[in-house]
Amino acid sequence: MGRIFCPVCGSSVEKLYGGMCEECYRKTHPLVILPKKAVKIIICPVCGSYLIGRKWYNPKIQGDISEVVQKTLSKSLKMKGEVKDLEVANANFDEILGIKRGMVRIRIRGKALPDFPFYDEEYNVSIKLEFKLCPKCIDIKSKREMARVQVRVRNRTFTREEVSKIERTVNKILQELYSSDKSAVPIEVTIKDEGIDYIFSSQKVARTVALRLKKIFKAEILETFKNAGISDKGKRLSKITYRVQLPEFREGDLIVLNNKRYYVYKIANRQLKLLSFPNYSFKNIFLTKSLANLIHVVMRREAMGYALVVSVTPPYVQIMTLDGEYSTKEIWLPKIPKWIEQGKKIGYFTLDDGIFLVPLPT
Ligand SMILES: [Zn+2]
Ligand SMILES: [Zn+2]
Repeated sequence: MGRIFCPVCGSSVEKLYGGMCEECYRKTHPLVILPKKAVKIIICPVCGSYLIGRKWYNPKIQGDISEVVQKTLSKSLKMKGEVKDLEVANANFDEILGIKRGMVRIRIRGKALPDFPFYDEEYNVSIKLEFKLCPKCIDIKSKREMARVQVRVRNRTFTREEVSKIERTVNKILQELYSSDKSAVPIEVTIKDEGIDYIFSSQKVARTVALRLKKIFKAEILETFKNAGISDKGKRLSKITYRVQLPEFREGDLIVLNNKRYYVYKIANRQLKLLSFPNYSFKNIFLTKSLANLIHVVMRREAMGYALVVSVTPPYVQIMTLDGEYSTKEIWLPKIPKWIEQGKKIGYFTLDDGIFLVPLPT
């Protein structure tokens, strides 16, 4: 077969498409035309369904933002040629959820002409989140508030990670309840700096949510009643607020209890597994309410550095920090704990009186 030259790039090919080689054709015919403005992603803050055009859709997994973004972009971006798949290749959804906008990288599988084999193209798409109640949730909202669950944490504000964990947990509880109790849908959810408020028309649902959160997060519950007038049938009504207070510390935090420093390795079934310093031994304690009050956080797990164990030569451990500077440090340990092994990734805290090595939280 004769070879021809592509007039655009000059390469020798067998066939031209629209006067150029396949590669040049692809380059000049992208699979998608990106909009000038950010693509709006509209989500119902209560049930997590999302709006495309005039129709509301339920995500397969409630609260799965990546699915919502993928579906919305698939349906609202203007495609060219034959596109068979669009996926989110990379996105920092934590940040996007925080500031309600951001950039996602998408991968599109398709072809500009029917003769071509399928290939992938990647694009950065700017998106903007908007929260809007869906019609189903507006219906529920018109109901009367009878109970409120306030989720708070002792002596500090929630991290973004914790907020999404609480949201996921509450959504899961509500989904379970919903099959037998249709009032298991919040009238309103407000996320504030100090915590999350869920408003319900059912006191039973609110109570179940509060009790389940208490169990899962080792929280305390404070119950308050407020007069809410008289019902249609002349009965006296009262509103209940369940204040669910989570303990100040989390797995991975460095705490002080009775003037001694510990690392919170695990929290499970009211048991705390603590690593004590400087002898590096584990200690299990049963977490009671009064004990929780005695615990104070010295350093949050966000302040933890990561390191690689380079060598273990008792009584010394050599580590290389992985936080960007890759410096090596030698730490004297009277007894080398089992979790410190050559080649393992560990955490460390830098304090006034030295460096404390810790196993990574599970
Ligand atoms: Zn060419
Ligand atoms: Zn909704």
